[in-house]
Amino acid sequence: MNLPDCIYLRLVPFFLFFYSLPANDASAQQNGLYSYNDLSQTAYSRQKDSLEKFWVCPALYNEKSTQKKYKELWDARTVYIATAIDNNNYIKEQELYTYVNEILTSLTNSNKKLLKQQPLLLIDRSSAVNAYAIGGNIIAVNAGLICFAESREEIALVIAHELSHNILQHPDKSMREQAEYFTSPEYKQSLNDVLKEKYERYSRLKKVFQGYSIDRSRHHRYHEGDADSLAIVLLKNSGIGFDARFFLRLDSTDGQYKQPLRHPLKDYFASHDLQIAESWIQKKAKGLSTRNYNFRDTVSMDDSLKTHPDCAARYAATAKASDAGIKLTPVPSPIKEKANRILIWNLFDNMSFTACLYRILLEKDKGSTDAWYDFMIHNILQGLYFADRQLNRFRAIGIVPKEYISKDYYALQTLLEQMPRDNLEQFCATFRSLQFWQKLPADANGLKALMATLNTTDTNSDKAASAAAKNFLKTYNGSMYCEFASHFK
Ligand SMILES: [Zn+2]
Repeated sequence: MNLPDCIYLRLVPFFLFFYSLPANDASAQQNGLYSYNDLSQTAYSRQKDSLEKFWVCPALYNEKSTQKKYKELWDARTVYIATAIDNNNYIKEQELYTYVNEILTSLTNSNKKLLKQQPLLLIDRSSAVNAYAIGGNIIAVNAGLICFAESREEIALVIAHELSHNILQHPDKSMREQAEYFTSPEYKQSLNDVLKEKYERYSRLKKVFQGYSIDRSRHHRYHEGDADSLAIVLLKNSGIGFDARFFLRLDSTDGQYKQPLRHPLKDYFASHDLQIAESWIQKKAKGLSTRNYNFRDTVSMDDSLKTHPDCAARYAATAKASDAGIKLTPVPSPIKEKANRILIWNLFDNMSFTACLYRILLEKDKGSTDAWYDFMIHNILQGLYFADRQLNRFRAIGIVPKEYISKDYYALQTLLEQMPRDNLEQFCATFRSLQFWQKLPADANGLKALMATLNTTDTNSDKAASAAAKNFLKTYNGSMYCEFASHFK
């Protein structure tokens, strides 16, 4: 519900009915954060099969070409969700799931007339502070939202907003609109006009699509307003407090990586006797963009209003409906921490090393001394070393534009980019011999051994890597770290 680009429109060709599907049993949890079986490929395999089987496009149009287009969009949505499930984009970690699903259940039970069946909830592992309506009876809530939200009421607002999109059938309307427009005489005519032209066909073609997207964004704004209004009704029926200021806060999420660190970057390593040379953090002047850039480390509400002007309007439109003296229920810190760890692991597994390490350092700033975070720093260093040997270090760093990050984030990004390979190897070795390993369970220590093997085998021979990965999968069957090992088997 990140207001400017509510995902239901971004994913456009998808959405509508979803047959209510039985929830999967909780799988046994290993000693880690969650089990490998909690990932969607396993946890939602039955739901995926059901939707592929029962999700049949209804015949709405007599006009053959329109019906054909509609079916194309319909099927693309099914493929989209099935692929996301197969790619393990969703996770059914029991504690997190139970917490969010309780909010969803409370909204559903108090709004029986509008919500006849309990919607299927998916927890998306994305770090984006967002949720989205998939249509019909499915909604997805990102782990990033659970990390960012301060209260149960805030999460409830986002869920209620997404439920409202489903109740108002916005996703389905989007599909129908597209099917109708792209098979309309008006569209065909404008396309023909473009093709008749000798010159500048491309820019004329772009205008045809632009006209459509402007029209859509106008619709989109109405949809957002309607979803907000209905969301407030759903909340009131459930006795969940509403404060319009949530819109402003939820919309200032671009600043996630603008939060500065408490200490100079080198201090985080110096505590392990690892020295960072100043030259690794100083960006070697390549290109103009690195110079004369003023970082601002804080994001105020004012900034957020500037970047998302819609947000002010939506706040103004709903301010009167705010509950006076609202009491907020904080999101329990174990839930937030779990969501954050799920994000950190996912960022690591997707090789977004800077974002991953930055989140870990922010946890250290909060005073966390949990060995798991040191374990993850080790994994990032090993991962970076591995990427360097594969000659794709740059990709693994995951460069973020300066507008979205703090000076410290930029320094970290530069460090990961410029630190010489020999030093990186030395950092890895030091981290392998630190004391914290004793506090970690067997599967984490198994991952350490696997990474050591990956980084000592000949980069041209996959055989040893594959054997080590298969061995890990067999020995630590069910461990969440199997996800990493499975890339190499
Ligand atoms: Zn929306």
